[in-house]
Amino acid sequence: MSLIVQKFGGSSVADAESIKRVAKRIVDTKKAGNDIVVAVSAMGDSTDELLDLAHEVTPIPAPRELDMLLTAGERISMALLAMAIKSMGYDARSFTGSQAGMITDAQHGAARIVDVTPGRLRDALDEGAIAIVAGFQGFNRDTKDITTLGRGGSDTTAVALAAALGADICEIYTDVDGIFSADPRVVPRAHKLDRVSSEEMLELAAAGAKVLYIRAVEYARRHGVTLHVRSSFNNNTGTIVYNPAAISPYAAAVLNGETVEEPIIAGVAADLSEAKVTVVGVPDIPGKAAQIFKIVAKTNANVDMIVQNVSAASTGLTDISFTLPKSEGQQVLTALTNEQQNVGFAGLQYDDQIGKLALVGAGMRTNTGVSAKLFEALFEAGINIEMISTSEIRISVVTRADTINEALRVVHTAFGLDSDDEAVVHGGTGR
Ligand code: ASP
Ligand code: MG
Repeated sequence: MSLIVQKFGGSSVADAESIKRVAKRIVDTKKAGNDIVVAVSAMGDSTDELLDLAHEVTPIPAPRELDMLLTAGERISMALLAMAIKSMGYDARSFTGSQAGMITDAQHGAARIVDVTPGRLRDALDEGAIAIVAGFQGFNRDTKDITTLGRGGSDTTAVALAAALGADICEIYTDVDGIFSADPRVVPRAHKLDRVSSEEMLELAAAGAKVLYIRAVEYARRHGVTLHVRSSFNNNTGTIVYNPAAISPYAAAVLNGETVEEPIIAGVAADLSEAKVTVVGVPDIPGKAAQIFKIVAKTNANVDMIVQNVSAASTGLTDISFTLPKSEGQQVLTALTNEQQNVGFAGLQYDDQIGKLALVGAGMRTNTGVSAKLFEALFEAGINIEMISTSEIRISVVTRADTINEALRVVHTAFGLDSDDEAVVHGGTGR
């Protein structure tokens, strides 16, 4: 008998009909002889609706009360799902995050899981029941308050439960067929990946692939949880996200014991949410970069790429550019402007019309010529590269925002990732 954790996103439980459909799916897995723990998101867009409501009441809702409000969304779906399962003659019990033992720190709206004590879930399983857990929420022991894990946090709930219970696999049910080599809405010839390593998935998620939340992937990687990302609208095998060092026998069986060699490239992703700040005319002497990024760090901005140009010998001045989320641009510009005299730079430029493309593949470690091929493909399409950064298994480039989709397509083709037929897009959001 296997223990399976299943997570259903908001789009899979959007209305009563969908909840009944999901209930049937859960019961089928139960009938096949498995123990099941389910993590469920709030129905459809109800979290957004609750957020809107809060902002109609006050422009800045109190964080504690906002968490109280938002956690109600998952409480609704968990109870309805448990009722639906019970009506089919199977025992099911719903649990809030705190009842399920999701212990977090005290940070409202972005709490981190510090411990998972799923005693009540174990008891329910021992008694033959299906345990349904409200996703995205936890409880802090010091403040004794309810917390939320941040948007999309139900993925993390599912992974944390799978880790704590030693589940054989954590199935993430969504409205797309799995992880694709690129966003099929932009690259029609994208193909579904049968499997992707968790380190590749982390890079893809960081680069803008939205199907899985990065914190959940991190958690899965750290705790050796194998994920199966698949559609709740069909029975197809989706994508296995695995840590090669810790692949479970159950996951290996889903993969049919395939031992084909890993492809060099897993996929390509794009991100249009960043902007570029250039600090112009920085004195090229030790300590200036430190000064600048200390100012930036104080704003808590998430700096991604950094490029420093060589200084023209005659001026002794250099330019430093970096990217960061657009939403953090204004506060960083203000902070830098306030310190302009101190640092002694000439000016600031802000560019929010950039796109970032990332090519990801574990095979880059052992294959040369990957970057040359990438640059060549962009050159042939007449796309200018403005910044470049690399990790062991990723190459990222910044281009103009309006060329990013074309860039995705030509790079996808250049690396032989195109499938023979067009991907079927159900208009899903991946949530
Ligand atoms: N309901 C929450 C959200 O929409 C959590 C989740 O869906 O995972 O962000
Ligand atoms: Mg949601």
